[in-house]
Amino acid sequence: METQAAVLWGQNQDWQIETITLDPPKAGEVLVRIVASGMCHSDEHVRTGDLPGLFPIIAGHEGAGIVEEVGSGVEDLKAGDHVVFGFVAACGKCPSCARGHSNLCDVGGMLLMGAQSDGTYRHHAADGTDIPTMVCLGTFAKHTVVNQASCVKILDHYPLEKACLVGCGVTTGWGSAVYAADVRPGDDVVVIGVGGIGAAAIQGARLAGAEHIFAIDPLPFKREMAVKFGATHTYASIEEATALVNEVTWGKNADKVICTMGVGDGSLMESIMTMTAKRGRVVVTNIHSVNETEVSLSLTWLTLMEKQIVGTIFGSGNMRYDIPHLMKLYDLGQLDLDNMVTNNYKLEEINQGYADMLAGKNIRGVLRYE
Ligand SMILES: [Zn+2]
Ligand SMILES: [Zn+2]
Repeated sequence: METQAAVLWGQNQDWQIETITLDPPKAGEVLVRIVASGMCHSDEHVRTGDLPGLFPIIAGHEGAGIVEEVGSGVEDLKAGDHVVFGFVAACGKCPSCARGHSNLCDVGGMLLMGAQSDGTYRHHAADGTDIPTMVCLGTFAKHTVVNQASCVKILDHYPLEKACLVGCGVTTGWGSAVYAADVRPGDDVVVIGVGGIGAAAIQGARLAGAEHIFAIDPLPFKREMAVKFGATHTYASIEEATALVNEVTWGKNADKVICTMGVGDGSLMESIMTMTAKRGRVVVTNIHSVNETEVSLSLTWLTLMEKQIVGTIFGSGNMRYDIPHLMKLYDLGQLDLDNMVTNNYKLEEINQGYADMLAGKNIRGVLRYE
């Protein structure tokens, strides 16, 4: 079949809207009509090269849609099912999945490379060139073929244009607070960077019972939004926050610090550790450039004060549990997804959408295909 996609042909180029050819789903694969896709910063990282990727590529990894056709051997999904894609596929059988860490699934890790599980491609340009899809999803297109391990079925009444966010940013932010940071009732939490992931981290910290939630972002709009999501204090910079977090916590500092900046910066780590309490934990959720190997950090913090630094992918969540669970919290009015979507765009407006994101205008922009 033919469909429209935003194709990226090279580093730092614009997204090109093109008609592509899509093969039918093979064994274990699913054809999905995508209804909406979040515009995550990671797609921009692919464009700029902060995340390594091959070109051409159809990016987009935060999508929700409706199953149109399933390949042989797909037993859990049928045409008409509403699905959210988990950006790390979960096979349910590998050692990581079996131990309850499906965010580190071996099959998911393989599919991150952008080819289907048999090493071939379903997406092709007009001239026949194979086009890999980001994390084997490619949600910047009106249809896609994905592995069944990437799909989580959700209830039909959930709005797909909100549900898409749970495929990456919301679960990543939420889990960064609830799982990776392990925020406990009464904790004091710092969230650095209030984009889609930071906004979800603030909500996770709030729902986990944090006392003070300090949100740090240079943009006044983001600080205003942070308060809506549950921040109790907002600051424009780490420098501004450091003394005040210390004062508000009576010298203890923050139990948990969650880094959700657009791009991480290793030279900030020493200041981040300064804001962290004894036995406190710093969670590195944001991407750092793959080329960055230097970090400013006195490792004495780890020994003498038992401070910790941990990393997390997909918020250390399990997509088959967390995606339906977070949609239930949305349904119950406890998780605010509505305020996380600042602007909606058509596929043709994707370059504008990313310009808006880079200008700090969006918590999340969402592409809507109908
Ligand atoms: Zn993402
Ligand atoms: Zn697995």
